[in-house]
Amino acid sequence: MRWKGRRQSSNVEDRRGRGGGGMFPGGLGRGRRIRLPMGGSRRAGGGFSGIIMLVVLFFVLRACGIDPLEMLSGGTMQGAPTQTRQQSTPANDEMSQFVSVVLAETEDVWNGIFQSQGMDYEEPNMVLFSNQVQSACGFASAATGPFYCPGDNKVYLDLSFFDQLARKFGASGDFAQAYVVAHEVGHHVQNITGILPRFNQMRRSMSQAEANAMSVRVELQADCFAGIWAHYTAQKGLLEEGDIEEALNAANQIGDDTLQRRTQGYVVPESFNHGTSEQRKEWFARGLESGRLQSCDTFNNPI
Ligand SMILES: [Zn+2]
Repeated sequence: MRWKGRRQSSNVEDRRGRGGGGMFPGGLGRGRRIRLPMGGSRRAGGGFSGIIMLVVLFFVLRACGIDPLEMLSGGTMQGAPTQTRQQSTPANDEMSQFVSVVLAETEDVWNGIFQSQGMDYEEPNMVLFSNQVQSACGFASAATGPFYCPGDNKVYLDLSFFDQLARKFGASGDFAQAYVVAHEVGHHVQNITGILPRFNQMRRSMSQAEANAMSVRVELQADCFAGIWAHYTAQKGLLEEGDIEEALNAANQIGDDTLQRRTQGYVVPESFNHGTSEQRKEWFARGLESGRLQSCDTFNNPI
């Protein structure tokens, strides 16, 4: 990706080298972390149809020219943004500069998309940490992998994950990393459009299998949103030869089936909560091709 010399986001909090200051180990979190898959399954929570209805409503309202964000932003965002915009120290190493540029590029794209719908995009913060970190979703260690916390509207990223991504998951290249950031930002978009809060509410009354199935749709939509971002990044001429392949390969390597096969040697579809490799590639590609939100409706289409 041609990123050098481009704008770096001012929404980056560099907490590397700090312990994380965990007063509440184990986490008393608002919301739950939405993260990139590293294997393992998650607890359940309720009711497929409701969230599907919500998303249908969201798209219908927008098609009618009504601003669903305005309607949703009132009650649905638990632990709404207290945006303590901690002043960031300018990043001086290449990796943090890179993710700051990627974050800035996501800001530009999503600001543009929201504006085209007559809405304001509330930019997320990105927290860079090492070892461990305290978030509104609880205490996390680097082993958690990157995640988005809906409780504080922040993307949490331990940059050493990118080494893992390359070595352990065979997904190297800067655009693989950009895809990871764009995916987490995709969760932020879901959060501020009311999709994530609704899912988190409904999953409480869902069985484990139902919650996993719904989680797959949430994750695939975040992949599709990452694809939308890549679409506009390509339009700007920032992509280099091989970039798209890097992102697709990353989506492929971190599919639930691939991860499970690697970690436990067999595949348990009901425990999937991010989607198979094929699905993840497919939905990223859909966003990439169209650049349109409407093509990312994973709730009303076969996945
Ligand atoms: Zn995710």
